[in-house]
Amino acid sequence: MMTYSLPKLPYAYNALEPHCDEQTLKIHHDMHHKSYVDGLNKAEQKLQEARNSGDFCLIKHWERELAFHGSGHILHTLFWENMMPNGTLNPQGCVVDQIKKDFGDYEKFKKQFTEAAVAVEGSGWTILAWNPTLQKLVILQAEKHQNLTQWGVTPLLVLDLWEHAYYLKYQNRRLEFINAWWNIANWDIVNQRFNNVAK
Ligand code: MN
Repeated sequence: MMTYSLPKLPYAYNALEPHCDEQTLKIHHDMHHKSYVDGLNKAEQKLQEARNSGDFCLIKHWERELAFHGSGHILHTLFWENMMPNGTLNPQGCVVDQIKKDFGDYEKFKKQFTEAAVAVEGSGWTILAWNPTLQKLVILQAEKHQNLTQWGVTPLLVLDLWEHAYYLKYQNRRLEFINAWWNIANWDIVNQRFNNVAK
């Protein structure tokens, strides 16, 4: 099975001084990011063991770990890459054109991003993201990045398990609905979605 490893920083530990100090960057990368990578590998391994043994009694735990460490690994990787010594003060390009379209202008965008970042409760992230379904840039706060997602994923096959999706017919028999649902899954669409995003 594929294991993940801690990516090297694309610059020296002291390269972002004085804005981000060397000691913080070193601890953040070498220890915090590393523990996400280790946790993700462990979750993947435990899920593989569960698939092989058929024992899914800890499925909720390992799905949570997969989300928490997976998102931590992905977001930190993006974070290191979207910084550089002497950063871009006057951004240009297609993304800036889209920012103007979706936020008015760059200064308004910057203000909203800053305010969103200040207002993140506890630990968390502020994220500028492209929503391919809405064809729009959005600023999102992630207060708990582990909330059962891995940021950056593209959904391929989704199953609605809100009770409104099955309650009239199945009441509390969720498994019965899920078993029945496999008969109506459209894998042509799933395959198409996969081909659109997978390299
Ligand atoms: Mn961090």
